[in-house]
Amino acid sequence: MNKKIFQVVFSSIVVTAILTIAIAITICYGTYKSRVSDDLAAELRFLSVVATDNPAELADATAKDRRITLVDSDGTVLFDSDADAAMMENHLQREEIQEALRYGSGEAERESTTVLSRMMYAALKLDDGRILRIAAPRETIGSFIVDMLTPISFLLLLLLVSGALISVRCAKTIIKPINEIDLEHPEATECYEELSPLLGRIARQQGIIRRQIDDAKQKNREFTIITGNMAEGLVIIDKDARILSVNNAALDLFGAEDCPPGKSVFRISRIEKFSESVFAALAGNRNEIVMESSGRTLQVISSPVHSQDETIGAAIIVIDITEKSERDRLRREFTANVSHELKTPLTSISGFAELLRTGSVPPDGVKEFASDIYRETQRLISLIEDIIKLSRLDEGAVDANGEKVDLRSIASEVMELLENKAKSQGIGMYLKGDAGICIEGSESLVYEIFYNLAENSIKYNKPDGTVTLEVGRNDDGRSFLRVSDTGIGIPEEDKGRVFERFYRVDKSRSRASGGTGLGLSIVRHAAMVLHADIDLESKLGEGTSVTVTFQ
Ligand code: ADP
Repeated sequence: MNKKIFQVVFSSIVVTAILTIAIAITICYGTYKSRVSDDLAAELRFLSVVATDNPAELADATAKDRRITLVDSDGTVLFDSDADAAMMENHLQREEIQEALRYGSGEAERESTTVLSRMMYAALKLDDGRILRIAAPRETIGSFIVDMLTPISFLLLLLLVSGALISVRCAKTIIKPINEIDLEHPEATECYEELSPLLGRIARQQGIIRRQIDDAKQKNREFTIITGNMAEGLVIIDKDARILSVNNAALDLFGAEDCPPGKSVFRISRIEKFSESVFAALAGNRNEIVMESSGRTLQVISSPVHSQDETIGAAIIVIDITEKSERDRLRREFTANVSHELKTPLTSISGFAELLRTGSVPPDGVKEFASDIYRETQRLISLIEDIIKLSRLDEGAVDANGEKVDLRSIASEVMELLENKAKSQGIGMYLKGDAGICIEGSESLVYEIFYNLAENSIKYNKPDGTVTLEVGRNDDGRSFLRVSDTGIGIPEEDKGRVFERFYRVDKSRSRASGGTGLGLSIVRHAAMVLHADIDLESKLGEGTSVTVTFQ
């Protein structure tokens, strides 16, 4: 704007200066012309007297640059101050001579040999009928300007410099109040009256913009809070796959560093499956994939975002399904194991029954076959019972209902139930700990824990071994139950796996002793429901001790 004002003011000054100079030159030239004409007329009058009284002195009577010609009334040149009169042509037809003959005096102007000067002629009819003519060179407008060039140039330069200074100052003066407008409070600024409507509009627009910015900030805050607290990852990208928004959950799930908006979404994950899903969404196709990333199983749902039939980006939702897929895997494994476990006794039962049906068993062997069938059926029943217990625990159908449970009384109940079994294997059972050690929980779950641990200690013991059931309180006041034996122990590498469903260290021994492979799984589940910790200590060939510590 400064420049524009300068240009306008300066060009106005320049145009005005040039016009003024041109007009001044024209006026001066007009004055000069009439001065020359007046001078010639005055001189001519004076010379007319000389021509009448003393014609011989005519040549010396005037200035050197003047040419004097005396012409007879028929046009014959009688005298000429610059040339030989006899050699000169008849002057009757000259304009000034004609005018003088007709009106007594005449004037004419003609080009000289040079372009820059013209000759001015003035003629006067003498009393005797002759014509006296005087001629003098007169400058043309061109030569006049050439003569004036130096002062004109100087004047023009002066005008240009002062014009430039005035223009700069003028521009500054005009711009200053505009620059001083406080755009935060435009209406409070005192500026040009003409700018008031504009300032008013700016103030109103500012109000609207401020409100819109506040709204946008508020919405952004809300969006950040909502997405920040989501367990699911959310990434929003534009059509060039640049991130517009990404929440912490998405970064965590992909194990990515902070990824600021504007960066490529592929900085979050470079896995090909993910790129394909993103490109498919940007091509307008919603898609779902399951991928592995940073040791997790992620479900990625990419949906295109449309605006006026055009895909302008995509929204990507990332869900951690590690646990779910692990559960699915375990469930599949469990189903396969269950089928297998059920099939084994059923196949035996079917085989025995087939032999009985076809009469291939001698009468004295029938009893033995019947007890085999009975044993396998019992196995089936305990297996099904264990499966039911586990699935009830899985479903959350059993909870620690907060009843008061005396650990020692459960221990003695279990001991009573298993004593005969232990005795039949030559194993001694012992009970340690005081009465009155109680927990808040579920009697049946504590019973399951104690029973399964004690039964295992009997099953996997050695002849003349011992099983000790113990209840007590830790130094930190937490109640515990412990089942220790002097049995075969668990190899180091199997310790971590014995709580898995159907995991057995020695399959045949487990089967032979009626094990289902689910006992310790039930213990682990029951402990989980009771919020108890399990600690297994075992030394191969020396014995095992399992401690369950309650909260
Ligand atoms: P099972 O019905 O086979 O006993 P469990 O889940 O109760 O199934 O136990 C899993 C496996 O852990 C057993 O098959 C056995 O090999 C091992 N185990 C459990 N308790 C003991 C123990 N007290 N001493 C030695 N090994 C044990």
